[in-house]
Amino acid sequence: MNREQLSAYEPYLVVHEAEPDGRGNQVETTTVFLTASTCPVGCNMCDLHLNTLTGTTPPGAITQQIDKALKDSKAAWLKLYNSGNFFDPRSIPPVDYPAISQRCNQFERVIVENHPRFGKHRLRSFLDLITCRFEIAVGLETVQPRWLNRLEKQLSLIHI
Ligand code: SF4
Repeated sequence: MNREQLSAYEPYLVVHEAEPDGRGNQVETTTVFLTASTCPVGCNMCDLHLNTLTGTTPPGAITQQIDKALKDSKAAWLKLYNSGNFFDPRSIPPVDYPAISQRCNQFERVIVENHPRFGKHRLRSFLDLITCRFEIAVGLETVQPRWLNRLEKQLSLIHI
C-alpha cells in the first residue's frame, strides 16, 4: 500500500458517534484522526504510517486540524489520535500544548494514544494545562512475551 498525500492542516478522518459509558448510557464522542509525523517505533504489524506526514508536523497545524474537526461537534468526549504518540514532539509540537489543551478543556473526557517511551516530562507540562479527565491509551496488542518481541513494539512486561 502507498502512503497517502495528506495536508498537515486537515485531519484525515473525523468520526462522530455515541459510545457506551459503562453505566448503561451513551455519550456523544468525536474521534479526530490527526495528520501528523510518522511514529518512529516501527512495529512490524503497524500500517498507521500510511496516513502520516514524512516530516515534522508544523507548529500550529494540529490546532487548525482540531478546530476544523470540532466545528460541528456536540460531543462530551474527545479522542485525539495521531497515528503515533501524542507526546512525540515531532508529531505533536510542544509549542502547541497551550492551544491544544484549551480545546481539550471544553470536553468532559479526552483520550490520546502514547507509547510509554515518549515524553514523561512533556506529559507533566501538558497535564499542568489540563482541567478535563485525561486518559492515555496504550496499544499493547498482546501480553504473550514471544509475540510481543516479534512485533518489535519496544515494550516489556513487568510481573507484579
Ligand atoms: S507504537 Fe503504535 S503507531 Fe507506532 S509503530 Fe507501533 S503500533 Fe504503530
